[in-house]
Amino acid sequence: MSVSPFVRDLMAGVAARNPAEPEFHQAVQEVAESLELVIAKRPAYRTARIVERLIEPERVVMFRVVWQNDRGEVQVNRGYRVQMNSAIGPYKGGLRFHPSVNLSILKFLAFEQVLKNSLTTLPMGGGKGGSDFDPRGKSDDEVMRFCQSFMTELSRHIGPNTDVPAGDIGVGGREIGYLFGQYKRLRNEFTGVLTGKGINWGGSLMRPEATGYGSVYFAAEMLNTRKEVLEGRTCLVSGSGNVAQYTVQKLLQFGATPVTLSDSEGYIYDEAGITTEKLHFVMELKNVRRGRIREYADAFKGAVFVPVDPSLDHNPLWNHTAQCAFPSATQNEINAKDAANLLRNGVTVISEGANMPTVLDGVRQFLDAGILYGPAKAANAGGVATSGLEMSQNSLRLPWTWEEVDAKLHTIMRTIHRNCRDTAEAFGTPGNYVNGANIAGFTKVADAMLDQGL
Ligand code: NAP
Repeated sequence: MSVSPFVRDLMAGVAARNPAEPEFHQAVQEVAESLELVIAKRPAYRTARIVERLIEPERVVMFRVVWQNDRGEVQVNRGYRVQMNSAIGPYKGGLRFHPSVNLSILKFLAFEQVLKNSLTTLPMGGGKGGSDFDPRGKSDDEVMRFCQSFMTELSRHIGPNTDVPAGDIGVGGREIGYLFGQYKRLRNEFTGVLTGKGINWGGSLMRPEATGYGSVYFAAEMLNTRKEVLEGRTCLVSGSGNVAQYTVQKLLQFGATPVTLSDSEGYIYDEAGITTEKLHFVMELKNVRRGRIREYADAFKGAVFVPVDPSLDHNPLWNHTAQCAFPSATQNEINAKDAANLLRNGVTVISEGANMPTVLDGVRQFLDAGILYGPAKAANAGGVATSGLEMSQNSLRLPWTWEEVDAKLHTIMRTIHRNCRDTAEAFGTPGNYVNGANIAGFTKVADAMLDQGL
């Protein structure tokens, strides 16, 4: 596909300044293609070089994390925090613990986070961090020692008015607990420095559910524009962690039929549908026993487990007949062939729970096909929005009820949807939620940067 001189020049600069960072290049390119439309209308953004400033992190911290495993052996990992943009609020974004973590992945996530947080309507800047530490197969004690060592350095760079991390892949309630405990011990203060906290010590009701629920609310809003509903629809869901579990739960509440879940070893297909009872099994399997998704097929008759086959050029999970897809595992899990398979099999609604789960070619296929395609920075913004609500409750020192938080989350998802839809229309691309999300997210941050000067 041909690109304009603006995108070509910008991407040449990005490639030269950030070599060997393919995920970061991909995230910037997707946004740049949308931003052309707004930059043509507002030359002030061009003169002030807002886009060039937006893709340069305000600060990147990289540090050594040393800890001991249960056998007393010394382990060395690498920790990071990318503080991308603080124009509209303190840096905010998750921590990821996964062996694949590197600067490219964290910069793409931090960049996306800036625009996503802007869309939430709440005052939050963007950041992301993590480590190449792999929590899989580690004991609770090992995870605790790692988290304590990680936070010992990270604590110098964060704070409730500076940078407020949360969870992401490999960082759930257990890890947030250990991280918070260490921060409190080092600082001798009890503050809302992390979100995703336990409910008895400053957490918000609904935070664990929020990303998955929000992604389903977004799909329902998109369908509503065509006077359609989720009820009765077959849905493909990938992943089996936090986002995937609560996506399935909300789909069931809407009367839809989720039929797949996955982890890094393969996926299960349950033609009869994943029910509430089967979902409870998955939650216990993944959150308590920390087992593998293949056990689902042993437990429930009729379900099949398909192991990952590295010789395939596509993921067979995306090759089942369905009307909706909720990618909720990781980046680039839908390649060009998967995108074609989804369209051929009748998928007309995609709501991205994971961050950047679709390659650029796949995004273009979805847009060309005119399906309801909700890109990650809009569709999965419910998680960080509820983190923002947790920050508000911490500042107020007043917890809200489940109903209050759910109502706020639902309103925020509706507002994000409307904002994306209206913006896409205003810029001459009706129905293009990618342009809508990128432009609406960008404009608020860009205007704040103009207001605040160089
Ligand atoms: P999680 O609880 O750690 O679950 C991640 C799931 O994805 C697991 O089933 C994991 O399988 C699978 N997975 C991870 N990396 C994979 C890989 N390279 N290949 C195949 N499968 C992989 O994480 P999560 O919080 O649900 O996050 C899932 C996605 O949602 C991520 O893209 C994250 O950035 C995004 N997200 C999360 C939130 C949030 O609030 N948590 C908010 C917005 C966006 P294994 O267990 O086998 O690794």
